[in-house]
Amino acid sequence: MSIAKSYVLCVDDDPRNLLALKAVLANVGANLVMARSGAEALEAAGEREFAVILLDVMMPDMDGIETAKRLRELENAKHSPIVFVTAYPLDEMRTFRGYALGAVDYIHKPIGTEILQSKVRAFVQLFELREQVKEQAINEMRQRWETMRLREEFEREALLHLFVDNVKDYGVFFIDPEGGIHNWNPACESIFGYQESEILGRDFSTIFVPEDVNKRVHLLELEKAKEKGRAEDERWHLRKDGTRFWADGVVTPLRDKNGELRGFCKLVRDNTRRKEWEETLKRSEDRFRMAVDSARLGTWDYDPKTGSLEWSDRAKELAGLPENSTVTYETFLASLHPEDRPRVEQRIAEALSGKADGQYAIEYRTVGLVDKIMRWLYVRGKVYTDEQGLPTRFIGTVMDITDEKRAEEERTALIDSLKGSNRELESFASTASHDLQEPLRMISMYLSLLERRFQGRLGEDEKEYMHSVVNASDRMKRLTTDLLSYSRLFGEKIDSGPVDLNSALEKALENLSLAIEESGARITRDRLPMIRGNGTQLVQLFQNLISNAIKYQTRKSLPEISISAMRQDQQWIIAVKDNGIGFDMEHSGKIFDVFQRLHSRTEYAGSGLGLSTCRKIVEHHQGRIWAESAPADGSTFYVALPVSE
Ligand code: ADP
Repeated sequence: MSIAKSYVLCVDDDPRNLLALKAVLANVGANLVMARSGAEALEAAGEREFAVILLDVMMPDMDGIETAKRLRELENAKHSPIVFVTAYPLDEMRTFRGYALGAVDYIHKPIGTEILQSKVRAFVQLFELREQVKEQAINEMRQRWETMRLREEFEREALLHLFVDNVKDYGVFFIDPEGGIHNWNPACESIFGYQESEILGRDFSTIFVPEDVNKRVHLLELEKAKEKGRAEDERWHLRKDGTRFWADGVVTPLRDKNGELRGFCKLVRDNTRRKEWEETLKRSEDRFRMAVDSARLGTWDYDPKTGSLEWSDRAKELAGLPENSTVTYETFLASLHPEDRPRVEQRIAEALSGKADGQYAIEYRTVGLVDKIMRWLYVRGKVYTDEQGLPTRFIGTVMDITDEKRAEEERTALIDSLKGSNRELESFASTASHDLQEPLRMISMYLSLLERRFQGRLGEDEKEYMHSVVNASDRMKRLTTDLLSYSRLFGEKIDSGPVDLNSALEKALENLSLAIEESGARITRDRLPMIRGNGTQLVQLFQNLISNAIKYQTRKSLPEISISAMRQDQQWIIAVKDNGIGFDMEHSGKIFDVFQRLHSRTEYAGSGLGLSTCRKIVEHHQGRIWAESAPADGSTFYVALPVSE
């Protein structure tokens, strides 16, 4: 038996009547609620809707009419059928306000069992029918609403798909509450390398690098999104091929209308390029910083528009200021050495005016504002301009070159003093060799007189002594002559003009004609070029080289000497080659130094000044001299002289 759904309210102040009603209505298929007064009836009606209310009219505190009136005011009982149970005749009842109050029927006491049963049953059936209809309507409504909602949802979703699929720069996908991936858009495919079909349903951690997965970063991200409504991050992600890329992303939780969490949406953008760029920038900045620090450079940054100036701590230190001091353009000007200030200001004005291509490089002195120390600084800078060419930024570096400057000054002073003492030495050598000539001539002359006077009267020993003295005086004469010609090369202003090297060579051979004849030397020569230079010196150059070539011979064969010329770019290379004794190349550098000889005087006479004179002459002509030789294999002396057009 199904449990009755409908309720019937019986109101009577007499419990016997209520018992009677209970007995009569036991089988109408409704639940009976008994009320002993109007107040109880109202209370019961407040709780539920009744299929019918059986209401006694005559009741002590609140009669049936009043109760009916009050019942109508209740939401539940507004339309409930009320049946008055009365002992009054029907006509009289009509005069009551019963009908006006919506009473639908009257039952006379004493109550006829069957009538009451059928009436109540009718009302109960009616009520149930109405309830059914109501439920159906509600169901129908619900169904319709559901369809509508589904359609809306579908449309919304379709739109969302459209949007998500067309987002190009951002990878967009959804994560279900269990962490599975869905709705992988094409941008995701190109960013991560997974096709949608490959990744669908796979765990969100798939796209994270293992270190982060170990740290549960992916879960923390969802947790944060759930809590804060949004989780942003920037980190390495993993592509299908295992490569990594730097990406920024946002996770947002997706909730339905009831606030229930339905999953998450994640947006990702590949930022590797930016990251790389940032890293390159950072690396170059680091390099720059390291260079600046290790070179102990100060840096400065001037804004010509606002006039604001920033100095690094080192820059302040170089202006003799403490690290924490503030710097203005005036501070800078005040730090300049008074003698250098106008020059510096002028150069800055030039750089800012766009002259010199915005480049700025200058050396100047500063006087420490606090420590009063004078420093030499080397400052470099660059002016940056806007599209109209107006200066917007002037930045640069500053370097302490005080030590270098000091060393340079010392070097210059040393060179000056060396030059001075060299000049003194040269003039001393020149004077000495010149002044020695006269007494030497006297010695030679008197020696010849003595030789003639004692002719035939000298013993063997005396002859030997005499011979040695004459020899020594000859040597001394040669030495003074050589020294004089060498020292003349100093300080002598070179009188330069076109010189035909053929004539110079001719003259040298003429001067050496006696030696050539005595030695039986064979001399071959090329045609030589014209150059610019000093004729006398060039004659001497040839003369010294050829006389050495004749002198340093084995005496087993006759000297063979060749003089040739060859052009090499902008130089003439003149070569003087002999077939003499040669020398070890180990000494090739020192033979051009003053008084340096490789052979003893007893073997080969000489002053050791010939080749140094040659080098001096070649240097006067902006040229170079060197030799190539091997012992017993002859020597070649090369002279390179600039070509004159
Ligand atoms: P010296 O007056 O001694 O010849 P030089 O300055 O002309 O002085 O030469 C320096 C040294 O170089 C010589 O003493 C000799 O040992 C060596 N020398 C110069 N020319 C030749 C050469 N043609 N062959 C071998 N040795 C040479």
